[in-house]
Amino acid sequence: MSSIDATEEPEVGAEATDDSANVMIQFDGVVKQFGDNVVLRELDFSVSPGEFVTLIGPSGSGKTTILRLLMTLEKVNGGTIQVDGEYLSHMYRGDKLVPADEKHLTKVRKRIGMVFQQFNLFPNMNVLQNITEAPIRVLGLPKSDAEERAKDLLDMVGLGEKVTAHPTQLSGGQQQRVAIARALAMRPDVLLLDEVTSALDPELVAGVLNVLKEIASTTDITFLCVTHEMGFAKDVSDRVLMFDQGQIIEDASPDKLFTEPEHERTREFLHAVI
Ligand code: ADP
Repeated sequence: MSSIDATEEPEVGAEATDDSANVMIQFDGVVKQFGDNVVLRELDFSVSPGEFVTLIGPSGSGKTTILRLLMTLEKVNGGTIQVDGEYLSHMYRGDKLVPADEKHLTKVRKRIGMVFQQFNLFPNMNVLQNITEAPIRVLGLPKSDAEERAKDLLDMVGLGEKVTAHPTQLSGGQQQRVAIARALAMRPDVLLLDEVTSALDPELVAGVLNVLKEIASTTDITFLCVTHEMGFAKDVSDRVLMFDQGQIIEDASPDKLFTEPEHERTREFLHAVI
């Protein structure tokens, strides 16, 4: 079915984008396929520093794959991805671009946080330990500094009283707010949100979305968000990208996209989910 050669080397430019100061995330001709299933077809898009961009579109259109590529949980089959001017899959050795080694990947990964649908907290650690583990182990932060940072973040997500609680003692919404604090404790430049409210009881959704809204409006973190919460997307996004079959079919402000979408496919999708 596919005409794209999975073994082809990605085409990479000699230089990282020179206007990287204005671009935090850059996809250039990104191809991703699983076997014959071409999930992303020469995808190009960019996200500016501090922007909140939401990806919407039918199930299977490739949205989660984009987040997984950014987390380096998957590799591209073609094209390149840059985060703040650094290639994800390549690195410079002198002025030559070569495949990234583990050290380079670890460096780039530190700048990107992700919050998942399932909160994935460490069940054997309390709330404070969940948040301080990576800053201590990965960033080398002294324990007292990591704890101070964690407590500030817990206050920010409204869980200042839960420092010593264990995940099982918390509601799903509280666990998700701990997961958000844990991601923020790494001071990421980019925060990826993958259906972060899908596993929550309806009455807990608003608490999590309000916390995210607050973070988006008070920090300069760049957000890339996959959600079915169209009200939230409309409220918080600077830009919404509508995906269909691995391509962006509409890229617009939420006001434009939700009220006067240009494409029939977008209208159908919004009609089905709103
Ligand atoms: P969305 O997030 O828009 O629902 P996904 O990115 O999860 O879409 O999936 C896009 C397509 O890629 C689907 O057809 C899915 O079955 C396929 N896919 C995703 N991950 C894998 C994988 N690890 N192995 C095989 N196919 C996958």
